Amino acid sequence: MPLFDPPIREYIKGGGYVELEEMLGDDLTPARVARISYLSEGTEEANKKLLKKLIDLGHYSPFEQQVFRFFIHGIPMYIGEQLLRHRIASPLKRSFRYTHPEKGLKDKKWEDVNFWNEIVHVPPEFLGLRNHHIDNPDELLSEIIQHYKRSFELYNKLVESGLRKEAARCVLPAGLRTTLYWSSNMRSIMNFMKLRLNKHAQWEMRELAKAMARILLKVVPLTMGYYLENENLLYLLDE
Ligand SMILES: Cc1cc2nc3c(=O)[nH]c(=O)nc-3n(C[C@H](O)[C@H](O)[C@H](O)COP(=O)(O)OP(=O)(O)OC[C@H]3O[C@@H](n4cnc5c(N)ncnc54)[C@H](O)[C@@H]3O)c2cc1C
Repeated sequence: MPLFDPPIREYIKGGGYVELEEMLGDDLTPARVARISYLSEGTEEANKKLLKKLIDLGHYSPFEQQVFRFFIHGIPMYIGEQLLRHRIASPLKRSFRYTHPEKGLKDKKWEDVNFWNEIVHVPPEFLGLRNHHIDNPDELLSEIIQHYKRSFELYNKLVESGLRKEAARCVLPAGLRTTLYWSSNMRSIMNFMKLRLNKHAQWEMRELAKAMARILLKVVPLTMGYYLENENLLYLLDE
């Protein structure tokens, strides 16, 4: 039984979604726990002010007491890899040693955009999601899909010939979509937002960060809102 009913889910532009599965603490938890220093208690209003002060001063350790577990579905493998670089977070990823990449997708048709968009990622430039000139986009998109299709055909051929899935996956494309749990505390998420909402981060990663930020703005609006505002990152959510 999910903790949040209805689910707190945000779709990622370009494909996939993020869902908040569980959280420890609420919006004012960092302020409440910070009061341990003085063994004091505060009113709700006083805690709101303290929360802002902690962020203004960069006193981030109390934010380690707010913890979130996200279920992230359908991101390309290479975005999953970038996510794993954030060491102060705990990931748990789907295994392609044990699962078939097309698992759960019956009656597949490579002509059907809904099919391939479920299992592989196509750069946003080809889907009208990102404004950037590409020569012959339709022709190239068709080539990309054919390339993906051939990779899967070879993968299936290798597995049917008796090769282990863990070895056959070497021919699967980097654009293969994957699924993982990602748990992290707010302090580490703040670092993540600073790095990954940033204009230097890859488009796909920024869209994932935006989806997470939208969820956090719903469940801990003061914490996430103050932080993003303070770091001048809030406006990036609308880009
Ligand atoms: C635009 C961009 C381009 C990138 N390009 C590359 C690239 O080309 N190649 C590449 O390998 N990576 C690249 N990265 C990944 C980057 O180097 C970080 O590994 C990643 O962003 C995680 O950041 P982090 O270390 O701050 O996060 P976390 O691993 O979550 O660490 C959080 C904080 O904990 C502290 N910390 C964690 N581990 C240690 C440690 N061992 N020693 C000391 N302090 C530690 C640091 O203060 C760190 O900021 C890129 C990231 C971005 C945003």
